[in-house]
Amino acid sequence: MFESTMMDIPLTIEMILDRARSTAADVEVVSRLPDRQLHKTTYGAIAERTERLARALIDAGIKPRDRVATLMWNHSQHLECYLGIPLAGAVIHTLNLRLHPDEIAYIAADAQDRFLIVDDVLLPLFEAFRGKHHFEKVIVVGTAKPLPPDAIPYEDFLERGNPQITLPKIQENDPLGCCYTSGTTGRPKGVVYSHRSTILHSLVTALPDCLDLSQDDCLLAVVPMFHVNAWGLPYTSVLVGARQVLPGPFLDAPSLLDLMEAEKVTVAAGVPTIWLGIREELDARPRNLNARMVVGGAAAPEQLIRDFDRMGLQLIQAWGMTETSPVGLVSRLSPAARNLPLDEQYKLRAKQGRPAPLVQIRVCNEKGEVPADGKTSGEVQIRGPWITRGYTSGVVDQRWTADGYFKTGDVANRDALGYIQLTDRTADLIKSGGEWIASQTLENVIMGHPAVREAAVIGVPHPKWSERPLAVVVLKPGAKASSDELKEHMAPHFAKFQLPDAFVFVDAIPRTSAGKFKKTELRQEYRNWSW
Ligand code: ADP
Repeated sequence: MFESTMMDIPLTIEMILDRARSTAADVEVVSRLPDRQLHKTTYGAIAERTERLARALIDAGIKPRDRVATLMWNHSQHLECYLGIPLAGAVIHTLNLRLHPDEIAYIAADAQDRFLIVDDVLLPLFEAFRGKHHFEKVIVVGTAKPLPPDAIPYEDFLERGNPQITLPKIQENDPLGCCYTSGTTGRPKGVVYSHRSTILHSLVTALPDCLDLSQDDCLLAVVPMFHVNAWGLPYTSVLVGARQVLPGPFLDAPSLLDLMEAEKVTVAAGVPTIWLGIREELDARPRNLNARMVVGGAAAPEQLIRDFDRMGLQLIQAWGMTETSPVGLVSRLSPAARNLPLDEQYKLRAKQGRPAPLVQIRVCNEKGEVPADGKTSGEVQIRGPWITRGYTSGVVDQRWTADGYFKTGDVANRDALGYIQLTDRTADLIKSGGEWIASQTLENVIMGHPAVREAAVIGVPHPKWSERPLAVVVLKPGAKASSDELKEHMAPHFAKFQLPDAFVFVDAIPRTSAGKFKKTELRQEYRNWSW
């Protein structure tokens, strides 16, 4: 027998916490409080409070694998929960505060959450669903008074974290956190991340060719900590010792830009709709910024990438899902791509990118893997150490292949350089006279028109063609464009049958809880459209 002589040390949250205690102890974490004041602390202080939180949870009866829910904005106490709940051996379950109270209650009950840690400013939301799921303990962050009769202030709760209470020994495959899918198709389903998957995801996303995070960075996670763990960025930042700025409840463009400027943010992360608002604000009131902006969750229009380049802001597109922790693809220019003409480079940056190290991604149709021609489309399939192999409710067989790939439901092609371009989600594809039309590609081009702020294209029932595309468009303030003009702008890029038959101009497109265009609602609204 010739065995490895390496130490067998589990990859657990302890490793991230150890960085907070040692190398990064003096690194700052800045949070915007509900009264708009900035609160400043350090990783060292957070590490100490994290341990108290873990011990207090154990003292209060939390056992390994129990679920502790959070209902909070992005701030330092939420970061303490990210670290402290798993340190107690328990599972952090981040509840999405933008969901309907009934849905929050359903998700909390499905996960059998025992305790809730909630922001005082969110107590009215909690009141709206508290009758539908019983939490044994409610711990409130903030200073609001009076508290509900059975609630405990977070600071008082931390006092219970006596150092004599021993922390459990954690194995790397133990559960660490739980998120629910958005439930666009059927009821929301739970996905459970392990200590190991979280550490590996953090390490890989920090790499220069991924999201490129280091101790020189200051991260502003606009993506909420209740949405796929803010893409894992809070963990990645502690691991590498990056400073963090947490925006609290203020996600409007001026508030975010103030923070970016004052705190010298070098990396910000959020969904495209956030950056659309930021672009508008910067167009109106230019500022001196120099940052990278990670964009994901929905396609970043090529025009947005071009516009930000002009403003000194580099947009980096990434793709992922709740089921994939989330980072799977990242669009960084390869050395070969950097030799291409500038227009080609922009086209690549607007694609979803190439697989992150340690994950395998393929695009398959009924004939097998699609050729690397940048045209033939198939479904994206993914496998790797931070990709889920089931849901808490069990395995839904049709979503995994026999060789263990997760079938994402995203439709894409792959080019000769290995870049994958999403053209649509299966559910959003438009079926017109037997041909499929991909809505995301249409939207990308409409949003390239200088008068357009936002656009979503949906399939609407049609008596002859079964469905035809209809574009819902928001123009920039004061800008004008007619349907004919937009159609003309699109014509060089598409076959005639792919062009929308109608353009509807609206003030706003409805958003999902994660800030994406809510096409289910649009389809409902326009289902009786008369052509
Ligand atoms: P939901 O969108 O259903 O709320 P998720 O947050 O898990 O749930 O989103 C995953 C989906 O978001 C992916 O399957 C994909 O359709 C879409 N998505 C994520 N990143 C991108 C991207 N960069 N470009 C286009 N679509 C994306």
